Amino acid sequence: MNIFWHRRDLRTVDNAGLSAASRDGSVLPIYIYDPDLFKKIGARQQAFWLAGVQALKTIYQERDSDLLVRIGSPADIIPELVDEYDIETVYCNSHYRPGRRTRRQHVERELAASDASLDARTDHVLVDPGRLDSSYTSHSQFHRDWETVPKRGPYDAPDADRLIGISDGKTIAVPDVDISLPPAGPEAAAKRFDRFCNQALFQYNDMRDDLPAAVENPTTSVSRLSPYISGGMIGIRSLWNRTQNLADSVSGRERRNAEKFPYELSWREQNYHLLYYNPDLAVENYNEFPNQMQWREDEDDFNAWTAGETGYPLVDAGMRQLNQEGYIHNRPRQVVASFLSKHLLIDWRRGARYFTKQLIDHDYASNYGNWQWIASTGTDSVDVRIFDPVSQMAKYDDGAAFVRHYVPELSDVPTEEIIEWPTLNHGKRNRLCPEYAEPIVDRNNGYERAQKRFERALGKR
Ligand code: FAD
Repeated sequence: MNIFWHRRDLRTVDNAGLSAASRDGSVLPIYIYDPDLFKKIGARQQAFWLAGVQALKTIYQERDSDLLVRIGSPADIIPELVDEYDIETVYCNSHYRPGRRTRRQHVERELAASDASLDARTDHVLVDPGRLDSSYTSHSQFHRDWETVPKRGPYDAPDADRLIGISDGKTIAVPDVDISLPPAGPEAAAKRFDRFCNQALFQYNDMRDDLPAAVENPTTSVSRLSPYISGGMIGIRSLWNRTQNLADSVSGRERRNAEKFPYELSWREQNYHLLYYNPDLAVENYNEFPNQMQWREDEDDFNAWTAGETGYPLVDAGMRQLNQEGYIHNRPRQVVASFLSKHLLIDWRRGARYFTKQLIDHDYASNYGNWQWIASTGTDSVDVRIFDPVSQMAKYDDGAAFVRHYVPELSDVPTEEIIEWPTLNHGKRNRLCPEYAEPIVDRNNGYERAQKRFERALGKR
């Protein structure tokens, strides 16, 4: 008999480790709630994942089996279960977060004293980072290599007769949180993916930056699959395979639109590749600057940014979306991150930690990898990239629908004035909407200060 140790892979379909365990014998599925690891993610994501554990338990129960749920350290619990159930192999999937890597090593060390062994499979990514070069200077270089590696299709769920017939009453209650969460688990993930594939996929490239559509008609916009992907409630091969096949089944504009989705997954893969070769991605600048980068310490500015009260409408709308939904659309995600690390010159690590606390789709590799990219400390091939929050709004939310949705105090302000808010004079702002924030930094001064500070760190001044 084998154990399959579920971690960030709360599903039975398209699960590489589970599939291997069931090919090799009967399977006892387990999940270990590890408080020390769990407290490193935000309360909202904890609740979402625990709801996912309950959904997974139901899936096993419907197949006359059960998910054994235990609380504590995997290095203590797994050897006990190995003894109790006379286990031959403990299967799991490889995960790349340093804390997960060490936990796996601890389990391996404990098992060394027994007859059982640990077998970890590549599941979380389409291409094992170890198969690629250790560093790439741009995404296009990474993508060129990554694309040539053959990718396998999804794994089937194990046959029910491979799952051992047990019943285990233990579960972990889902804590209440400050926002309403989307339904969790593989069925909810599959439903969302079906809906996306039925329509939005074929206009994905045209619509993925359309902020009005994101609030007015979400079924035509981005997938919002990220919370499910980060909790492993849907498999990456399922996503890649189906969208690639659907793209191949159409032509012209529809094909170009649909192909963009599997392409976007390669950004996620690049972040995992980065983390694999740079385990300190969350704490150290990926790029070494010849001179120390001088970040500003300004609590008032940081607090205004977290609260969505910077006086920059698109930044504030994005931060309020994050605070209200635990999710933020990719376009404002980039804009708010750039605003913090460039216009406010506040250390990207503080912003990334705030995201970790608030997001339900927090993903260790993608969060820290993208923050570094935006902060120009990561793999961006441009030395200093600064998003202009005013022109970003003019381009992506030109009717101000997204901003008005999240910043209702601006509802009655004419669109042009919302877009230009940071550059209007104080008297005009006060006449138009006294309740809304004054800009906390001048648009041009903020831009130039960031440019100078980064150039100094880069040794160009
Ligand atoms: P869709 O547009 O439908 O894309 C589908 C999937 O492709 C996403 O779910 C994601 O898995 C992947 N993807 C798309 N773009 C990227 C990207 N740039 N990097 C990595 N994966 C990508 N994504 C997370 O999943 N978790 C994070 O913690 C996270 N933090 C981020 C922090 C910053 C500062 C930035 C700029 C981006 C971050 N992203 C993160 C990437 C991206 O913003 C989200 O994946 C995307 O907005 C999720 O929404 P969606 O599922 O509707 O995306």
